[in-house]
Amino acid sequence: MINNIALVAHDSRKAELLSWVKFNAGVLKGCRLFCTGTTGRLVRETLQEALGEETPEVVCKLSGPLGGDFEIGAMIAEGDIDMLVFFCDNLIMQGHHNDVLGLTRLASLYNIPFATNRSTADFIISSPLFHSSEYERIIPSCIDSYKNRKL
Ligand code: PGA
Repeated sequence: MINNIALVAHDSRKAELLSWVKFNAGVLKGCRLFCTGTTGRLVRETLQEALGEETPEVVCKLSGPLGGDFEIGAMIAEGDIDMLVFFCDNLIMQGHHNDVLGLTRLASLYNIPFATNRSTADFIISSPLFHSSEYERIIPSCIDSYKNRKL
């Protein structure tokens, strides 16, 4: 079951993410949202417009280029994020490119549902597994192997 969702969008794709948030506000109101700073402010405004008092908690971390991507990445590593929607600018290199790579690497490593575009985000949020309390995400065995490696 997906409870804690991380949302991040680069400036050129914030409008696209907000449109997705508005379209899916009915489902998102049952979740807790964790965002990089600017994305979070805009997501909160969008949800308040759509849901009023039913707006879910939106936790705003630091702005992505100022450490927010790392904060979200650390939450994934701690097991505190169930799904990541991360709309990256695919046309220009970011000043915080290394942070972007780090966040996407951790989402992949910890096997969380991870959407980099709108159709994938739509497929995840409309999946029966999204609300399933029986589905258990597998933590890849390479993580324990790495922790217990012999040196
Ligand atoms: P922002 O950060 O939400 O603060 O704009 C996004 C990012 O570039 O990671």
